[in-house]
Amino acid sequence: MMSCIEGFERFDSPGKGRGLRITRSFKVGELLFSSPAYSYVLSVKERGCYCEFCFTRKEHLARCGKCKKAFYCNVKCQKGDWPMHKLECSAMTAFGENWCPSETSRLVARILARKKTQKQRCVSEKILLIEELQSHVEDVDNEKREMNEADIAGLHRFYSKHLEFPDHKDLLTLFSQVACNGFTIEDDELSHMGTAIYPDVALINHSCLPSVIVTYNGTSAEVRAVQDMKPGDEVLISYIDLLYPTDDRNNRLRESYYFTCDCQECKSRSKDKAKLKVRKQSDPIEPEVVNNMVRYARKTIREFRALRHMKTPSELMEMCEQSLEEMGAVFDDSNVYMLHMMYQAMGVCLYMEDIDGAVRYGEKILKPYSKLYPPYSLNVSSMYLKLGRLYMGLGRRSMGISAFKKAMVIMEVAHGKDHYYLTELHKEMAQK
Ligand SMILES: [Zn+2]
Ligand SMILES: [Zn+2]
Ligand SMILES: [Zn+2]
Repeated sequence: MMSCIEGFERFDSPGKGRGLRITRSFKVGELLFSSPAYSYVLSVKERGCYCEFCFTRKEHLARCGKCKKAFYCNVKCQKGDWPMHKLECSAMTAFGENWCPSETSRLVARILARKKTQKQRCVSEKILLIEELQSHVEDVDNEKREMNEADIAGLHRFYSKHLEFPDHKDLLTLFSQVACNGFTIEDDELSHMGTAIYPDVALINHSCLPSVIVTYNGTSAEVRAVQDMKPGDEVLISYIDLLYPTDDRNNRLRESYYFTCDCQECKSRSKDKAKLKVRKQSDPIEPEVVNNMVRYARKTIREFRALRHMKTPSELMEMCEQSLEEMGAVFDDSNVYMLHMMYQAMGVCLYMEDIDGAVRYGEKILKPYSKLYPPYSLNVSSMYLKLGRLYMGLGRRSMGISAFKKAMVIMEVAHGKDHYYLTELHKEMAQK
């Protein structure tokens, strides 16, 4: 069973299983294809900021009269969303404060509802069917299995009124499929807005030197070239944050996606030295000292991630500052582990509304970011945007405009010139 989107074909990629390749050329910034979501869900914390149905960001959205928790552009969007929203509407009222399914459970409930109602194949499954998504269910470790079990319990608890569930084994497979193939929908500053399944995009394999980038327009995913591509080239996206050195990237890929990357960058490790840059000193630093500090940095990053939601902002800030001081004895300011903790510190500053602090960290991060990430990176454009918006807020207009312009160069390629993020940005720049 095989169908095509024009200009593409599914093929067996050597060493990777199935993949997607192009049958005509594409230039940098050109749209390869746009894919509607098979299923999607807006994050609970974004309710009221975006329409639950079309993900439009605007003020004065209309509220669902029953649960008063879902928000819409208008009656049309509310009606459109009802087949999915009804899974949650009365349950949210009934459970009140105790309604707390994970975002993954919420998405899986929608997938099950969609599977049940849909006799015909979804238009978004042009080349890959939802049942064909990889699950790696046999590779799942205990920690992930426990998480899946908790998610399944949540599904039974909060959704049993409207859904009939497949047996436990099939549910475990479905949760594993969502873990491997789910996409996080992010806004222009890379804030998490929701989660979705795009079967066509899920077919694209990983590379640390990606040829395309995925951005979101409403609830659709758009895939654009970030390199000139010729017929026969495989379409490759990055599954992970590309800031980190080769070993860290591959640890992450093995943990989350169960493979090791063998792209050109993983073979040559050409950027690893710059990514692990050591402070210049009169006596060179011993390799053992550097290795110990790398271990310390990885441990700190893990701890910070685990404690992020449990500590107060000032405790988190202390963790950032302490680790930066410790690492700073060995690592250069442009070392990726330093950048990682500065990025966290910037986030804490923003949360505490310490704008000057956030700007200070942002300015330190930007230059090495532009050097260490690939030429068109959303991590870089989002950092320019954040900083630009902070400058504008502080009345430093020319600095703001200059940061916005740098973000736009990347966004015009990644999002396309007509994307509403760019329209919004033009408006922000015109404001006095
Ligand atoms: Zn809407
Ligand atoms: Zn409702
Ligand atoms: Zn790689």
